[in-house]
Amino acid sequence: MSGSLKLVILGLSLSSSWGNGHATTYRALLKALAARGHDVLFLERNATWYAAHRDLTDPDYCRLAFYDDLAGLERWAEEVRGADAVIVGSYVPEGVAVGRWARETAVGPVAFYDIDTPVTLAKLGRGDEEYLAADAIADFDLYFSFTGGPTLDRLERIFGSPAARALYCSADPDIYRPLEAPRRWDLSYLGTYSDDRQPVLERLLIEAARRAPHLKFAVAGPQYPADIAWPANVERLEHVAPADHPAFYAASRFTLNVTRADMVAAGFSPSIRLFEAAACATPIISDVWDGLDTVFGLGQEILTATSTDDVLAALDLPEAERDAIGQGGRRRVLTAHTPTHRAETLERELRAAARRRTAPLMTPDLKTSGTREPMMLDQTTKRRILVAGGAGFLGSHLCDRLLDSGARVLCVDNLLTGSMDNLRQALRRPNFEFIEADIVEPLPARITSRAFDRIYNLACPASPPLYQADPEHTLLTSVLGTKHLLDLAEKTGARFLLSSTSEIYGDPHVHPQPETYWGHVNSTGPRACYDEGKRCAETLTFDFSRAGRGEVRVARIFNTYGPRLSAADGRVVSSVVSQALAGDDITVFGDGSQTRSFCYVDDMIDGLIALMEHDGPEPGPINLGNPAEMTVNELVEVVLKITGSTSRVKRMDLPVDDPKRRRPDIAKAQTVLGWRPITTLEQGLTATMNWFDGRADGAASIPKPAAEPAAVA
Ligand code: NAD
Repeated sequence: MSGSLKLVILGLSLSSSWGNGHATTYRALLKALAARGHDVLFLERNATWYAAHRDLTDPDYCRLAFYDDLAGLERWAEEVRGADAVIVGSYVPEGVAVGRWARETAVGPVAFYDIDTPVTLAKLGRGDEEYLAADAIADFDLYFSFTGGPTLDRLERIFGSPAARALYCSADPDIYRPLEAPRRWDLSYLGTYSDDRQPVLERLLIEAARRAPHLKFAVAGPQYPADIAWPANVERLEHVAPADHPAFYAASRFTLNVTRADMVAAGFSPSIRLFEAAACATPIISDVWDGLDTVFGLGQEILTATSTDDVLAALDLPEAERDAIGQGGRRRVLTAHTPTHRAETLERELRAAARRRTAPLMTPDLKTSGTREPMMLDQTTKRRILVAGGAGFLGSHLCDRLLDSGARVLCVDNLLTGSMDNLRQALRRPNFEFIEADIVEPLPARITSRAFDRIYNLACPASPPLYQADPEHTLLTSVLGTKHLLDLAEKTGARFLLSSTSEIYGDPHVHPQPETYWGHVNSTGPRACYDEGKRCAETLTFDFSRAGRGEVRVARIFNTYGPRLSAADGRVVSSVVSQALAGDDITVFGDGSQTRSFCYVDDMIDGLIALMEHDGPEPGPINLGNPAEMTVNELVEVVLKITGSTSRVKRMDLPVDDPKRRRPDIAKAQTVLGWRPITTLEQGLTATMNWFDGRADGAASIPKPAAEPAAVA
């Protein structure tokens, strides 16, 4: 799946925005997908209500077609088969059958897009499968959800979704933008009446109006009961047409956000109003729920209130502060919550799902297309693969990818810096097994009695504070651990891959670093346990090969980042992203002019597998990394831009032996393996940030980054 995508979406409605929030969401998303060059066919059931209230029949950004019933879908079977991916939305009539038909017909991945996640889960809890069957969740390749946070975890862990991802709504900043208009109200609220929101509206707006008779308020929306005693300074508007929303917000000094009870309970469920008002630069006062801080920076981009007093205090803010919050909100929308951001997420996740499904091992073919083509492992032989360190950041991604290829994977890990959480996906797979063991110790018989075709050695802490915590153990992990695994490789005839590191170049005098450079390493400093351990592991590995004891591959890995990096382990990307998301000061060591080259994890896994599967003569060590070099200051700038964070930079002293420049020369990887990284820093950082954002614990509870060096292995 590369270049522009052919997508088929079966959704509730695109043609009518009457009485549903789906059409607005789809319209924004589809426009953004079209702008990114994708071809979308939207299939809508000819339902009486929507047919009678169509406000869009001929969109210029997608093809819109109607079908009458399930049988009528057959007409589109060819399109569905030819599509790169298919998406079935919530509330589609006969959705269970439609979803089944899509999964049976499509060749590419099929995703479920839930615009109503809390409602869906409440329904499933009651055994109501109106549009989604509980046991179908595991059969969809992806579950896109309007609700992020712990709900995603639930979808994966309890319902067995292979990948549940937040795909929030968004606001088009070209439509929702600040307008010059006289201020009519100090605080407005736009929303249909609902029983569960009314007590909050009563506390945060109506009571505030009573206590501040000199201020003006507005409540806009239908279905409010006639017996509500509105104070005289509350103006009621029965209906504000969507086209007039920007003007409505422009006329409000502040606007109030009140969230449905089921969305508050689930948390991480931002409503479209939030994004629309923020895009208009109207400062928002919101009710409080988990995960709000992962969407907007509290206090800088949005205000929160639980009581009337909180609201009155906010309304009292000086104009300059009010303006700054409005501007902050708009800035955050522009950097994280536009339809383009949602389209990017959708695109990236669909590609990842396709990769999981059909492209288990990726072999680059740069000469022909500049993109990677899938290479299936020989499915008949089903490789038996041992991944030491498989519960770590890189190891767990490697296990997932190998399992996708149909391989049988045994992960051996002592869980020193890795975690079972990283293996959640892998543990659901029948071909996966985990054995807790420390490779410094002789390997237990339940490992050495087995046969393997491939052994990857990724076991070793990679973050400076963690590998320095027990330097002797780190050194022995590289030396004794590698020896134990090499012995096993010899015994079982497996090809062996060592994950070495750019740290073997130390603080380099040659730049960028080719594999022929011998390095400049301090053998007595605090980093030596790692650097020298890896150098020694390389020596052992090449001696093993020279002695004809087996086939080896050595990857010199440069800084890699991505989802599952722990915020607390002191590596620069995770530290900067998590500090930015939490609104904390960002720690930069030294003046930030030291450079690093950051490689996205998917690219690295491609490289490791390409190297392991390289069948030619033993190629010697190969650098794997991204040659796009940048200073730590530049990294911070990009992260601030993407997260929209207002965090400030806090400078600390450079750690001992911190390398000043780091950039791989990957000419050899390109020539020998045809590999090079293809993920841009912005794409990779956005994916990493979304992962932090969508974590069960959310950004607010991301463990604080260690106050240790944000220098990286
Ligand atoms: P990580 O700390 O997330 O993973 C290392 C894994 O090895 C963890 O699961 C840990 O519990 C396990 N482990 C450590 N010591 C062990 C032992 N004695 N026995 C069994 N298991 C043990 O680190 P990572 O980023 O995933 O790195 C994986 C490998 O790649 C490491 O060898 C590292 O040196 C190398 N590397 C990584 C990077 C990077 O940027 N991520 C850069 C250069 C090299």
